[in-house]
Amino acid sequence: MSEEHFKSVISHAKEYGFVFLSSEIYDGLAAVYDYGQNGVELKKNIREYWWKSMVQLHENIVGVDASIFMAPDVWKASGHVDGFSDPMIDNKDSKKRYRADVLIEDFQEKYRVKNQKEITKAKKRFGEDFDLEQFVATNPNIARNNAKIEAIDERLKEGLESGNLHLVKELIEELGIACPVSGSKNWTDVRQFNLMYSTQMSATDGDNKIYLRPETAQGIFVNYLNVQKTGRMKLPFGIAQTGKAFRNEIVARQFIMRMKEFEQMEMQFFVTPGQEMEWYNHWKSHRMKWHLNLGIDKRKYRFHDHIKLAHYANAAVDIEFDFPFGFKEVEGIHSRTDFDLKQHELATGKKLQYFDHEKNESYIPYVVETSIGLDRMFLVLMSNALQTEDLGDGQTRTVLKLPPALSPFQCAILPLVKKDGLPELAKKIMRDLSLDFNCYYEEKDSIGKRYRRQDAIGTPICITVDHDSVNDQAVTIRYRDTMNQMRVSLSELHETIEKEVSMKALLKGLI
Ligand code: ATP
Repeated sequence: MSEEHFKSVISHAKEYGFVFLSSEIYDGLAAVYDYGQNGVELKKNIREYWWKSMVQLHENIVGVDASIFMAPDVWKASGHVDGFSDPMIDNKDSKKRYRADVLIEDFQEKYRVKNQKEITKAKKRFGEDFDLEQFVATNPNIARNNAKIEAIDERLKEGLESGNLHLVKELIEELGIACPVSGSKNWTDVRQFNLMYSTQMSATDGDNKIYLRPETAQGIFVNYLNVQKTGRMKLPFGIAQTGKAFRNEIVARQFIMRMKEFEQMEMQFFVTPGQEMEWYNHWKSHRMKWHLNLGIDKRKYRFHDHIKLAHYANAAVDIEFDFPFGFKEVEGIHSRTDFDLKQHELATGKKLQYFDHEKNESYIPYVVETSIGLDRMFLVLMSNALQTEDLGDGQTRTVLKLPPALSPFQCAILPLVKKDGLPELAKKIMRDLSLDFNCYYEEKDSIGKRYRRQDAIGTPICITVDHDSVNDQAVTIRYRDTMNQMRVSLSELHETIEKEVSMKALLKGLI
C-alpha cells in the first residue's frame, strides 16, 4: 500500500459519506472528524462485532458505560497528571512538531523494509524450497539489520526510562534523522508534553479543574468493586467498555489514525496474581484471531513487543497493521499488574480487593487489558477494502470489499424498473429483510449504475427484482466481490443472505 492509496481512501471516505472533517463549513477543526451516514453504520458494526465477541461470547465478561468526566483525583492516582506525556521535538526550520520516539521508530522501519526485501528476493530464488525461519536465522544482512534495530531500541529505552531526554536527542542526531518536511536536521531539545485536556466543572467554584478522560480504562477500575459485588463475579473475570477518549496529541495527522477525540474499546481482565502471563498470552492470541477472522491477509498484521514498558506494566505488545503509511499500532495488550487498583486504594483508603474463598485470603487482582481504537480499526478496514479493479476493455470499478457483516448495508434491493408492480414487490421484500439487516432501497438509474454505487459503499449483495419475479417468486442475487449472479426463490432468500452477511456468521469463526 502506498501514500497514493491513502489519499484515495481519504477522498473515497468523504465522497461516499463515511468520514467528514469536523465543522467543515468553517474550514474544519484539525484532527477532529465526523462520521457520515455510511461511516456511522460501519463504525457501529465494528463496535458490535467487538462487543458481541467480548461480552456476549464470554460468560465471565460484563460491560459498563462510565462517564467521560471523572473525579479529578482519579487522574492523579492513575499517574496521568504527572506522567501522561509524550516526548516531543520541533524542527526549527519547518516549525513542525514531532514525537521523538516516533521519528526514531520510523527510522528503524527502514531496516525492517530492507529485511522484507531480502526475504522476497530469496523466496523468488529458492522457490518451493524456501525455508523462511532458516533464512531469517542465517542471512548475514538480516542479522546486521536486526542488530541495528536492537541497538537503537536499547538507546531509546535508556533515554526514555531514565527521563534523560538529552540521550534521545543525541540519538536522533547520531542517526542523522531529518525533518520529513524541511529536510533539515536543525532540532530543538526533546521535551515532555502532557496530553490531557481539562475544563471547568462548575461556573462558580474557583479551583474546579476537571479532565476529559484520556482512556476509558479508569472508568472500569473505579467501578471494579461495584461490578464484582453486584454481579457476584469470580476471578478471572472481565469488564468491557466502549466510549470516547480525548488526547491533546502533539502530532495529530494521518486522518482518523490519530485524533484529538476518538473512541476506544477496552476490556480489563481481572486475574489471580501469578496467572497474569498465562492470560496475557491467551488474550494476545485471542485478539489476533478476532482481527484475522475478518478475512484480512495475515501478512498485514504483526505483533510488536514494547521496548519501553509503562511503569505499571510487566508485559505489553501491540497488534500492528500494515497501513498505507507502514506498520502501526491498532491495538495494545498490556499486563498492568495491580498498579491501578492499588493506586486507587491508596488514594481513597477504600479496599479494592477480592476475597478468594479457595485460598481464604483477600488480595488485589492483577489486570490484563486489551485496548483497541475504534477509529483506527475503521481505517484498517477502509484501507484494506478499497480496491480499483480492472474489468478489461479499459473499464474499471471501485469496490469496497468490507467484511459483509460490517458493511454499512448488508443488501440493496433494486427493482429493475419503476413500474409494473416491481417497486411494490421490492418494498415487500425490503420490509421482511430490514428486520434483520440494514437494507438499501433504490430505483433510480440503470441497474449497472446502481450496482457500481453499491460496490463503492461495500454492499455485499444486491437483490434485483425483475418482471419474472412477480410470476416465479424469485429474484437475482448479485455478489459484490465476484459479480456473479444467481437466481434465488423468495422462500430461500432470507436464509441465503443470512449465511453470507450476518453478524452471526462472522461470530461463528470465533468459537
Ligand atoms: P500511540 O502509540 O499510537 O499513540 P498509544 O500506545 O498511546 O498509541 P493506547 O494508550 O495503548 O495507545 O490506546 C489504545 C488504543 O487506542 C491504540 O491502540 C489506538 O488504537 C487507540 N488510540 C490511541 N490514541 C489515539 C488517537 N489519538 N486517535 C485514535 N486512536 C487512538
